[in-house]
Amino acid sequence: MWARLVEAMGSELEVGKIPNAYNMCFYATMCHVCKGFGDGVLLKKCGGCRMISYCGQEHQKQHWKLHKPLCKAIQDVLQDYNIDNPIITVSSSGVTPENEKKKRYFMFLLSIKLGRRPNTDEVQMFNFPRECLVCHERNAQSLKDCRKCVASFCKNHVNGTEHKNICAPLELRFRSDLLAIRGEISPPDMRCYLRHVTDKGKFQNMKDFMNAYWNIPTDSEMSRNILIGQHSIHLTRPLTLFHAMRLLNCVPKSKAIVIHVVGACGLEEFSLMGWEIFPRLIGTAMPVTIIMIGPEQLQINPVYVCNNRMLLSENKNLKFDFYDMLYENYARSPSFVKPDLVVGFDLGIQVHELGSSKETWAPSIKLIAKQNCPFILTCRFTLQSFKKELDRINTILGRKVNYLYSGQNPFASLSPFRTVAPEYVLYLNQYIVIYRSLCK
Ligand SMILES: [Zn+2]
Ligand SMILES: [Zn+2]
Ligand SMILES: [Zn+2]
Ligand SMILES: [Zn+2]
Repeated sequence: MWARLVEAMGSELEVGKIPNAYNMCFYATMCHVCKGFGDGVLLKKCGGCRMISYCGQEHQKQHWKLHKPLCKAIQDVLQDYNIDNPIITVSSSGVTPENEKKKRYFMFLLSIKLGRRPNTDEVQMFNFPRECLVCHERNAQSLKDCRKCVASFCKNHVNGTEHKNICAPLELRFRSDLLAIRGEISPPDMRCYLRHVTDKGKFQNMKDFMNAYWNIPTDSEMSRNILIGQHSIHLTRPLTLFHAMRLLNCVPKSKAIVIHVVGACGLEEFSLMGWEIFPRLIGTAMPVTIIMIGPEQLQINPVYVCNNRMLLSENKNLKFDFYDMLYENYARSPSFVKPDLVVGFDLGIQVHELGSSKETWAPSIKLIAKQNCPFILTCRFTLQSFKKELDRINTILGRKVNYLYSGQNPFASLSPFRTVAPEYVLYLNQYIVIYRSLCK
């Protein structure tokens, strides 16, 4: 009786609206192409890797050109190294550090075989295989798929508290992904904030802020939450920085405010409209320059800006600069401008990529310390990994650095993303640490 979810969403999934859009996410309980699942959908696993399923040959064929390199690479790694696929092996030992290590090593070997990093959906095949979300039971016979959050659970956990707690955020993620696949997510209209925002706002968190300036539509709860999540993704970076400046009691004395966003990545694109409100937030008529620096190619889609007719040039007080290079290289370049504040969103500085011996954050953190200005760092992962970020900074600088605040960020995004147990979901900028300076 499970209707295909795509039908439940109102209309047929028009695969092809965005070429291969279905490929932007992976759900182990569904046909990878049409996202069909439930009763009446007989899923067959790919015989090569046994990690991805389809409702029939037609969709398997359709995906083959995209899937083939990974499928072959998985088989090559298994053969060449004579190891087990850590995802297929039936085990209920869970996400032990040992198992996580095996998985990361396998993915490292896979990247070498592929000659590239695995794509998002390919990483999700490894992070979210068909197993009980709680205990990692993989015996298909004893698994039940939840029709709401589309995750699997064993008999013991399908009605447990863990499932109860994460069902709604997981469903929200899935619904958002489905809308994105269907090409029905357009950049949110941020003009409401641009018109009304003042620095006098008394808002203390993300929801407060939205309620103060935006007439949140009251359709269904689900579509409202999807919209709120979307707005929050655009707002979380500027609001997080604003929040930190408020706590720092930061009044820049120079004639212009210069902000360095270090470790800038593809996500900056989503924040551009949000940054437009930043000068008003901090209540300044001074020119604000936001300099985004990071080794990733920063591809900014002008659609995100033009759709709201907020062309960057219109706001004469706000300027963006982009440098796709490491911070240490930027700091040595002739274009270097001294910052009033440095901020790093969800950097993950404690993560050393397996196989890369080069630690690129250490020199950058030392250079940030030299600026002798406030440094704000956020972390999207667990509280435990957030603490590791702080430890890493102390290790790099060889002493315990005092901070003004460390903990939950009230301006974290409200759009959940899937992650492995025990959190299951994460939010951008979930934790924040605010340093007056990294300098002694
Ligand atoms: Zn299908
Ligand atoms: Zn395969
Ligand atoms: Zn279980
Ligand atoms: Zn559920």
